[in-house]
Amino acid sequence: MNGFTTRAIHGGGRRDAHGSLRVPVYDSVAFEHENSSSLRDAFMGRKPAHIYSRITNPTVQDFEARIQALTGALSVLAVSSGMAAISNTLIALGGAGKNIVTSRYLFGNTLSLFEKTFAAWGLEARYVSMLNPEELAQAIDDETCAVFLESITNPQLEVANCQSLSAVIRERGVPLIVDNTLMTPYLFNCAGAGVDIEIISSTKYISGGATSVGGLVIDHGSFDWSRAAKFRGRAAKFGKMAFIAALRQEVYRDTGACLSPHNAYLQSLGLETMALRIDKSCQNAQYLAEFIAKRPEVTEVNYPGLTDSPSRPTASRQFNHKYGGVLTFDLNSIEECFSFMDALRVVRRATNINDNKSLILHPASTIFAEYSDEEKKRMAIRPTMLRLSAGIEDYEDLIIDLQKGFASL
Ligand SMILES: *Cc1c(COP(=O)(O)O)cnc(C)c1O
Repeated sequence: MNGFTTRAIHGGGRRDAHGSLRVPVYDSVAFEHENSSSLRDAFMGRKPAHIYSRITNPTVQDFEARIQALTGALSVLAVSSGMAAISNTLIALGGAGKNIVTSRYLFGNTLSLFEKTFAAWGLEARYVSMLNPEELAQAIDDETCAVFLESITNPQLEVANCQSLSAVIRERGVPLIVDNTLMTPYLFNCAGAGVDIEIISSTKYISGGATSVGGLVIDHGSFDWSRAAKFRGRAAKFGKMAFIAALRQEVYRDTGACLSPHNAYLQSLGLETMALRIDKSCQNAQYLAEFIAKRPEVTEVNYPGLTDSPSRPTASRQFNHKYGGVLTFDLNSIEECFSFMDALRVVRRATNINDNKSLILHPASTIFAEYSDEEKKRMAIRPTMLRLSAGIEDYEDLIIDLQKGFASL
């Protein structure tokens, strides 16, 4: 099989009428059919054909085909954002009276989705430590519709051993859903670790430098959908495709979670250079973490690539000896955090990660501002913590910039 970047560049890509080497942006809402029976067959799903761009679109479909070629997945659905990927997946799986077993260490908006939006519809979230398989096993009951976790949590940078969790979960007939945004399929082979559904915010590394918002639902084909009551009917009809069918024929279509063709184009472009950018970003993050760890102003630094990080052994095995582009460090006070951030000239103050640009943020006063001090504590969001996402700039310039931050304290 070809290597990762070869597949990223040459995967998908059916020729159009002009032999265009890049799949064009099909900025069209509807697609005309020769006659009424063709339109009927397309609507009935009797033949693959585009009818309306909220349902399928050629540019979006090409992006999906590339991700499929890259991951070897059974099926891929591209959606409008990472949050759309998470919400669509869990709406398809769950319902009132059901529960999701997860960790408190979650992306802020995911936590809000669970605690506010889903709670109001009677879908419960149960929080356990993903470092403790026994606690996880105990939390699962007959109403559990999914176990959901992040391959590396943002911003705590905790790394659970997915392989060992998956053994526990599979026994109980529950699918394992992993948000693999920070690692991407380049660093973490989800299928090999027993992950059933992989979720990606393609807004991050895939978009090629924060060009556009998007998300992906990747079904690795490992879950037997006839084991989940909600999918029994579809499993009899669609077999392994039951879950994606439920999304395409119902949740995704009816919630209007479609990715715009223009964004699919930008993300296909970003995908081609993703591995090169991730290598550079991980290398920069490693250098920056080592530099920061030596500074006397810093009370704590967290990066799985540091030799004394508790996450390092699992991360090293699971992520192919790379540790991602995000790190955190603590200064003595909020005032010091703000002063440090304000002194930077190359690193940008913005709430995003895995951009080509290095980005810094104070999580407690931004993403997690809506939570009480007590809640922040349970999520390990310290008021003295800064999150730094390493871009692909020249490393020396980033160090000079961080020195300006330290000089401001
Ligand atoms: C950014 C992010 C999301 C949400 O993705 P959007 O594309 O912004 O909706 C979900 N999970 C993780 C881990 C993220 O970093």
